[in-house]
Amino acid sequence: MLTKEQALKKYFGYTTFRPLQAEIIDNILAGNDSLVLMPTGGGKSVCFQIPALVSDGLCVVISPLIALMKDQVEGLKANGVAAAYLNSTVSAAEQNKIEQACYDKQLKLLYLSPEKLFSNSYIQILSQFPISLFAIDEAHCISFWGHDFRPEYTQLNKLKKYFPDIPIIALTATADRVTRKDILQQLSIDESNVFISSFDRPNLSLTVLPARGRIQYIIDFISTHRGQAGIVYCLSRKSTEDLAEKLVKAGYKAKAYHAGMEAQQRSQTQEDFLKDDIQIICATIAFGMGIDKSNVRWVIHYNLPKNIESFYQEIGRAGRDGMPSETILFYNISDYFVQIDFLKDLTPERRELQTAKLDRMRQYAEADICRRRILISYFNETVDKDCGNCDVCRNPRSKFDATILAQKALSAVVRTDEKIAIGAAIEILRGSHVKSLVEKGYDKLKTFGVGKELRAEEWADYLLQMLNSGVVDIAYDEGHSLKLNNTSWQVLKEGRKVMLSRAQSPQQKKEQLLEQEYKRKSKKEVLSEDLFDRLKVLRKQLADSQGVPAYIIFNDKTLSEMAADMPLSEASMLEVSGVGQQKFELYGQLFLDEILTFAKGAQNNGSKIKGATYLVTHELYQQGNSPEEIAAQRGMNIVTIYGHLCQLVENGAKDINLRSMINDSELTFINKALTTLPPVDNALKPVFDYLGGEVDYHKIRIAHTLMKQRITK
Ligand code: ADP
Ligand code: ZN
Repeated sequence: MLTKEQALKKYFGYTTFRPLQAEIIDNILAGNDSLVLMPTGGGKSVCFQIPALVSDGLCVVISPLIALMKDQVEGLKANGVAAAYLNSTVSAAEQNKIEQACYDKQLKLLYLSPEKLFSNSYIQILSQFPISLFAIDEAHCISFWGHDFRPEYTQLNKLKKYFPDIPIIALTATADRVTRKDILQQLSIDESNVFISSFDRPNLSLTVLPARGRIQYIIDFISTHRGQAGIVYCLSRKSTEDLAEKLVKAGYKAKAYHAGMEAQQRSQTQEDFLKDDIQIICATIAFGMGIDKSNVRWVIHYNLPKNIESFYQEIGRAGRDGMPSETILFYNISDYFVQIDFLKDLTPERRELQTAKLDRMRQYAEADICRRRILISYFNETVDKDCGNCDVCRNPRSKFDATILAQKALSAVVRTDEKIAIGAAIEILRGSHVKSLVEKGYDKLKTFGVGKELRAEEWADYLLQMLNSGVVDIAYDEGHSLKLNNTSWQVLKEGRKVMLSRAQSPQQKKEQLLEQEYKRKSKKEVLSEDLFDRLKVLRKQLADSQGVPAYIIFNDKTLSEMAADMPLSEASMLEVSGVGQQKFELYGQLFLDEILTFAKGAQNNGSKIKGATYLVTHELYQQGNSPEEIAAQRGMNIVTIYGHLCQLVENGAKDINLRSMINDSELTFINKALTTLPPVDNALKPVFDYLGGEVDYHKIRIAHTLMKQRITK
């Protein structure tokens, strides 16, 4: 049997566990039940897949999402793990085959839908399988209080009755307390077996932008994120379609997705996205459940979501592979009112709860402190520092004394008998002669036009800040009109000081973002980006020929590590995170060849690539040149060329015959010195001196490499 570390390397190509993974695995292997709470993309699957791989028998995984089942099984198979799934889409013949494999101990993981598990005494059949572990994915479905309750899930409490000795691991990304308590109770899991990992996803950048001009911004954004998959979440079905159409017109592969579409059309769109045949999905929140695509590089919210839970789940679909990914929320206050409107038919209690949740979302959007602090503290985690990866951290806004400015605004509100909403207030302050104002005689007010010096969006920003800091109130039930409160009167009458954050024009803000994007780009190795693109093409070809999504072959993180490190040998390829044994056997050589070709091309163009100089030597050697000839052709020292050949052999090159480059007596002579005086870190100078400087340096190098290969004669 493999150790858990060996299994992680062999099947997944990773060398270290993420936080808590090892502890969870050990807990299962000790025969205990566990409840695991990890954010989307946190690495839950490994927690039951590794125990399955290092134990005898079968791990049965209960999962409610058919699409996800298929993805996971595909991913496992690609890693050389024997896995299968049973649900309503599987034919009877296929099912028989799978069950036979279970009896025969040929399978390590079997995915089951809960419907399947509790149909026609399937439990009886299961009890004949050699089961080592039950894993319950999306365990929050068990709770009536969770956001995705599934009645079938409540029957899972029977598992303990039928299989008292088999450990259960329940996993979910929903952290709320009631749900958690429910899961523990229903599955009889002990509080001491709960594992909660941090919900922070530091690889996701957080940005909020004013909604004005968002379409153009999205188009600009996509043009600087060439070929990167992303999702735009919109509030309405219509806006998903409109936006998709605009993006298509702008030359991008985009499609809409919403619950009003035919099931067939929806699954086709999802499939196209998974396979990178379309780059962008414009979707309502109907999209995403059961999507396991690891290389979503950005998520944009076209409108304000209704609460932080949904928002966090939606942005969580970006960067599941751990690579830096971006999230942008477009915000304007009218979206908030639209959401408030949706709540009006709820019972008073529910409305109060949902309004409170919506308000937290709004606080996030309007924050002038680190946005990640707001998100993380929402999930009851303590945060002790600013994140450095949100727009507030990157461009902290300076505060200024805004008392006069606030007085102007408040006085406009007073003079209109507190009957105006934010929009009208801005127009009065800016003195615009729109009909609705003139009709009411507002253009005759003393305050008309006293705030001309500021742009409308600056006023909008300041009025919002005033609202948030309680300098003015708003009456949602009176056409959102602004109202004065005690603080407002103190500001007006007593000159109470008001401090606000300096508004940044949306244009400035957007330019700054694009500039940062540009800087980030130029820091990256341009070369490795080119190689990354080439590797992506190869990956897509392989994926298409096998009918699987590209990330099943290698995910973006693995591919970009290849592009950055440029492994040129089998050994260094196997060091890349995500290259396990099976994947290496299937694709390793193809990717090595591609990298090799690229490196040679770059070398010929005069670009310096670490390692490419070795390749040129290798190629000349393969063409039949002797080391001396190579040195002459390349105008390099012979010692250097021998050094290249030795290095190539150490990296795994099999076609270089070093032994023929040194005769028997030389080898014996040098070996004596090498064993008496073992070189430290490949430093051969002491050996050279020990031999009295009589032996060629490059011969010592050859003998040394041969010794590492255990060739001593
Ligand atoms: P979840 O189910 O929690 O949403 P997954 O199990 O799908 O997350 O894991 C997310 C990604 O992280 C996958 O691409 C997975 O291969 C990767 N991953 C998991 N564990 C590790 C690890 N120890 N090292 C590197 N990558 C990992
Ligand atoms: Zn921050």
